[in-house]
This record gives sequence, C-alpha cells and structure tokens, in this order.
Amino acid sequence: MPHSARIYDYWLGGKDNFAVDRAVGEAMIQAIPGMRYMAGENRKFVHRVARDLVTEEGISQFLDIGTGIPTRPNLHEIAQQHDPTARVVYVDNDPIVLVHARALMISHPSGRSEYIAADIRHPASILKDPALRDTLDLTKPVGLTLIAILMLLADADDPWGTVEELRDALPSGSCLAITHPTADFNPDAVSAAVAAATGAGMTLVARTKEAVQRFFGDWEMLEPGLSPVSAWRPDAPVDDPEAAYYWAGVARKP
Ligand code: SAH
Repeated sequence: MPHSARIYDYWLGGKDNFAVDRAVGEAMIQAIPGMRYMAGENRKFVHRVARDLVTEEGISQFLDIGTGIPTRPNLHEIAQQHDPTARVVYVDNDPIVLVHARALMISHPSGRSEYIAADIRHPASILKDPALRDTLDLTKPVGLTLIAILMLLADADDPWGTVEELRDALPSGSCLAITHPTADFNPDAVSAAVAAATGAGMTLVARTKEAVQRFFGDWEMLEPGLSPVSAWRPDAPVDDPEAAYYWAGVARKP
C-alpha cells in the first residue's frame, strides 16, 4: 500500500520510498505540478514556527504528531539552535518512521528528543505515554505541531474532537501550529490529486479555511492568522503566496 510518509519523502527527494509510493506521488504531481514546491514550503513553515515559538513565545518543549521520515533540519534541531535545552517528543504511527527514530533522537546534550510510536486518533494514549510524561512538563507551555497530518484523518474520525482533546491537555500559553492542504486556491488540481490518492486506497481530505480554522477552537490566532503557508511570516517576499495549497496558522491558548 502507498503510504503518506513515504510519498512525502519521495517529494522531498528522500530515499525511503517504494514503487507504489512513487506511483501515487507521481500521479499527484501530474495533478499538481507544484507538489514538490508545496512540500518544501510546508517544511520551511516548520522551521519558521519552531524559531518563533522559541524566540517569541518562550516555548521550550514541543509535541510533534505526524513527524514523518526525518528530514534535516528536523524540528528539534531548529528549536535547539535557539534554545539548546529545548525538548521535543515526536509521534508517528508509521513503522518506517520508527526505523529512523534514532536519527530523530540525536538531541543537543542540554536538551532532549524522544519518539513515541502512536496514533493521533488515540490522544489519551499519547498523553499518558511514559516517554511523554518523562520528557515534557505539562504544567508549562507546550508547542503542539500538527504539520500536514490532519488531512489523513477522515471527517468520520472526528479530527476536530481529537485536536480538542490534545488542546485541553495543555496549559495556558501553549501554542498549536497546523498546516493543512486545501482546495480553496485551485479546486480542480487539488481534487485531481486527492482522487489519485484515494483511488490508491489512501485517506486524504482537503479542507476549507473554515474547517481548518475550527481546529484551533477558542485559542488566539497569532499574526498573521490562518494564511497560505508561504504567506505565514515569510523570510523573503513571495511571488504567489497561493502557489502552495496549504492553510497554515499558529494559535496560543489564553
Ligand atoms: N509533519 C511532517 C511529515 C508529514 S507526512 C512534515 O510536515 O514535514 C504525514 C505523517 O503523518 C507521516 O509520517 C505519517 O506516517 C503520519 N501519520 C499519518 N497518520 C497518522 C496517525 N493516525 N497517527 C500518527 N501519525 C500519522
């Protein structure tokens, strides 16, 4: 079966993918020629968010669910550039990510990086995992990063309820960062890409701005609000911010 982590790895130029993953990945590139650009813009958002949560929001611990196959720099590497004591717990349910988990755990000696094999659809099991409890102090603000994962949950899985359960477990001052693919900017191309994925047996749901906004509940959106991913605090001016079909945003718990 094709799998999201390996398809994404293929788009990013990685080596951890099989023929079935490349076939779906290529079919999706046929639908969206800018797919590799999109994947790159999504990664750059991770880098900007990790930096800003540490330097502007005072966050020194992260929970990253849907980590993916390691791709440098990983979240903990960026966070620890700005705060060497930063702690990161990575969570993914794909065995191939587990195989690479050691690469994720090479932390700065002052900080910490841990990996939990778990499914986001069972937030309670993630939250009570001893590795999480041992690494993160849930009485202090946490940066929860759900980067390009929620589109892999069907509406029937109630991803909004899942994210709410995670939000509720975190204290005031915590931040939630999300990226989510959308058909809002180019309905035809995105529906063709979704059809290629679902035709191969995957669950993939593009969502509207309103549906993505709901993941943040009553948390306060940080500037500039829910934006096209390339337009969220870009490091350099962007020609066409809607060329990467992702909504992206960060919110803080009051
Ligand atoms: N966050 C990374 C990788 C995104 S690819 C980035 O944006 O660069 C999506 C990842 O989510 C894959 O590694 C996949 O294995 C993981 N994933 C998919 N469904 C999941 C689930 N139900 N629970 C936990 N992880 C999941």
